[in-house]
Amino acid sequence: MKKVVSILGARPQFIKASVLSRIIRERKEFLEIIVHTGQHFDSNMSEVFFEEMDIPKPKYNLNINGMGHGAMTGRMLEQIEEVLLHEKPDLVVVYGDTNSTLAGALAAKKLGIKVAHVEAGLRSFNMAMPEEVNRILTDRISDLLFCPTLSAVSNLKSEGFENFDAKMILSGDIMGDSLAYYSRLSAERSEIIEKLKLDGKKFVLATIHRQENTADAAILKSILKALNDISEDTLVVMPLHPRTKMMMDKFDLSFKGLTIDPVGYFDMLQLLKYCSLVITDSGGLQKEAYFNQKPCVIAREETEWVELVEAGFARIGGSDTAQLKEASRDYLNKLPDYGIDLYGHEAGLCIYQEIANYLSQIK
Ligand code: UDP
Repeated sequence: MKKVVSILGARPQFIKASVLSRIIRERKEFLEIIVHTGQHFDSNMSEVFFEEMDIPKPKYNLNINGMGHGAMTGRMLEQIEEVLLHEKPDLVVVYGDTNSTLAGALAAKKLGIKVAHVEAGLRSFNMAMPEEVNRILTDRISDLLFCPTLSAVSNLKSEGFENFDAKMILSGDIMGDSLAYYSRLSAERSEIIEKLKLDGKKFVLATIHRQENTADAAILKSILKALNDISEDTLVVMPLHPRTKMMMDKFDLSFKGLTIDPVGYFDMLQLLKYCSLVITDSGGLQKEAYFNQKPCVIAREETEWVELVEAGFARIGGSDTAQLKEASRDYLNKLPDYGIDLYGHEAGLCIYQEIANYLSQIK
């Protein structure tokens, strides 16, 4: 039987991988081995997703975390190579744009193993973002490029990918599948709305964790000031990423809304369902806001999900206090019209079928 190794390491990768992994187990046409690099390791950033989404326990947990980008990527590269030499897969699947993504793709490519990149072609055109570097390098060495959007396809085309020996596939966005699949279960199992006494209350859901927003005291302070000002009128609920917590402590910054520990996916889906507005620098959450018909203010200077902004479902707020507040105020007063389908359906199935076809052609 043909074998695929999936490289996972961070929260959004567990969510994306849950979809494809389930289809692989249902169809039984090839085998999946899961490698967890350990990039996210707290139980509420990792374990909870495996449990809730019924993702098989990783066969390998490399436990690599808490170091600089170079050391982390380097160690992952070394250890993933060992795993791949041992497992001899026919294909390696990587997701998104983290150090685990790049290390997985590079380790495979150097061994002559084919690479599939789920969420290919996204660009922020901001090379100061570690994620942008990871995704550009990963795309360039991938054989199957699963693009969530037309703009991702056109990014690759304008970088010359039509001349490379790689296949670009417009698959749609796999996070939409995940949300559709787990919505009912999350409504049945999550108690977060009752627990936080949010029933019938108007609230804003905020998440901040990107390096460019947390590493600089002035930037983090400016964003928190906006959230604090907004929370004087409307409650702001913020599941606090460990990095943000650490930097707030370091810079002695406070938040006046409701801070909670990072939540599992089921709780997150309920918070999304009941909130009035999302303010975030997360990539995934921007789309999840749209899937839930909730407007989104992006606490960044740009986004890879440009169609959200073009269609009026999201607005760039940057890190400027006034700009963030203004965008939020507008959205709290007037909702966009959610009549357009931006991200397709059943991306997971499309990705599965392409991979199955591809594997059937490999000797
Ligand atoms: N998420 C979650 N709990 C949280 C915060 C986020 O389950 O406390 C989910 C969120 O719904 C989305 C994903 O994690 O599906 C996004 O991950 P993150 O923001 O860490 O990464 P990004 O999408 O920016 O790469």
